[in-house]
Amino acid sequence: MTKYKALIGLEMHCEISETKTKVFSTAENSYNDIPNSNIRPVDMAFPGTLPVVNKEAVRKALMASLILNCKQPEYIYFERKNYYYPDLPKGFQITQETKPTPVGIYGKLSYECNDEIKTVRVNNIHLEEDAASSTHHEDTTTINYNRAGVPLLELVTEPDFHSADEAVAFLETMRSIYQYAGISEADSKKGQIRCDVNVSIMEEGLDAADPKNWGTKVEIKNVNSFGGVRDAINYEINRQIEAKEDGTYEKMEQQTRRFDEESGTTIYMRSKVDAIDYKYFVEPNIPKFKLDKSWLEEIKSSIPPLASERKEKYINDYNITPRDAKILVKEKPLADYFEETISLGANPQSVANWLNSIILGHINKMELSIKELFLTPKMLKGLIDLVEGNKISIKQAKEVLTKALEEEKDPVKLVSELGITQITDEKELTSIIDEVISENQPQLEAYKKNPKLFDYFVGQVMKKTRGKANPALTAKILKQELEKN
Ligand code: ADP
Ligand code: MG
Repeated sequence: MTKYKALIGLEMHCEISETKTKVFSTAENSYNDIPNSNIRPVDMAFPGTLPVVNKEAVRKALMASLILNCKQPEYIYFERKNYYYPDLPKGFQITQETKPTPVGIYGKLSYECNDEIKTVRVNNIHLEEDAASSTHHEDTTTINYNRAGVPLLELVTEPDFHSADEAVAFLETMRSIYQYAGISEADSKKGQIRCDVNVSIMEEGLDAADPKNWGTKVEIKNVNSFGGVRDAINYEINRQIEAKEDGTYEKMEQQTRRFDEESGTTIYMRSKVDAIDYKYFVEPNIPKFKLDKSWLEEIKSSIPPLASERKEKYINDYNITPRDAKILVKEKPLADYFEETISLGANPQSVANWLNSIILGHINKMELSIKELFLTPKMLKGLIDLVEGNKISIKQAKEVLTKALEEEKDPVKLVSELGITQITDEKELTSIIDEVISENQPQLEAYKKNPKLFDYFVGQVMKKTRGKANPALTAKILKQELEKN
């Protein structure tokens, strides 16, 4: 049986969220506000209005272009992509489609996938405006123009991915870059990331670098989550292999499909044969301007430390284990939370331990972002202080933190409310331990033959103190007292 190799190319859209205003108007760039509250006449395509380019959006787009090792154009200018849709009142989108218009062309990026370094070629990255958003109700559709004109970056890769794992690992890397570079929150839950996924298969063993060997491309439009990208790719690869095997592949046309989240399948929308002709031309209302080399240099030197740099710092300066450091930097908000807690004076590895266990577990379970967490870095520092000051044990702290997260309470307050304390007084603990030993004479005899029974005595001390005995001190005194007997 012939084996097949999958070819996958991504068109990743990411809204630039970190500008104050939209890309061609002075309306606020924050479309999650009350619908239709962030609009200027130009966003509504009123006659006589003119677009004005937001320099900050161009700056962020150029920063992305530099990070992706792209070639930047000599001039910054835009193009019109003509089509009509109710959420596009102008009847065209201002974009940068044909080369060399995009802010970046022919770049490449290395990313990590399953502990291997891979490289993808970037065809181009361009700056454009988002359309308004439509919400379909039972018998009406409402349109929210807050999103009309939000700056959008579209990144087009070459079909260099060969599995869903690779495509998703790349998307995660890009999300991280957008976050750390201060370009976007890149939150797919807020609809800030949307992908078109292109999939084909070819015979294994042929040269994948030669487009002559590529199979017929299928485009899957508007996949809104990384999980969706994974499922859509896997479904599509299987569907195409089946078509090869039942002989229908050769008749398959280039086509656009959509991903159905519920069933995890892709559904035929239209053939590429009747693709729309967008009649691109240079946007006449925006003058071309020459891209200054010194401005590019300045943007380059202002790229903030990205995830890998922060990871190195955590390992080298804070002595965090590489495994923990990798988890901490995966999403910038978590790394920021970590650094904020440390800046309050908490021990880095302790902070990492708490974050990467109970706190991340809670966030994932509740599908929260760390920014929505009730527990502040200051509260976490307070809890760590109680443990390190021997006021409560780790075990008690774990229970308190779990409860604090569930009930949205300050763990330090919870400790005093519940009267949780730890016995750290040697005299007090010695007398409790002596009691335990005298109450357990048969076990004492057994212990003399089998030292493994030590843990039994620890358990008894904990039981008697309802978990309040300091574990290290308990072990130390217990050893002493058992020796005496
Ligand atoms: P179109 O003109 O249809 O938009 P492009 O050549 O611009 O096609 O490519 C769009 C996307 O499709 C890119 O991400 C590209 O990598 C991807 N692509 C192109 N050919 C293939 C193929 N044979 N298999 C998978 N992806 C492909
Ligand atoms: Mg294209």
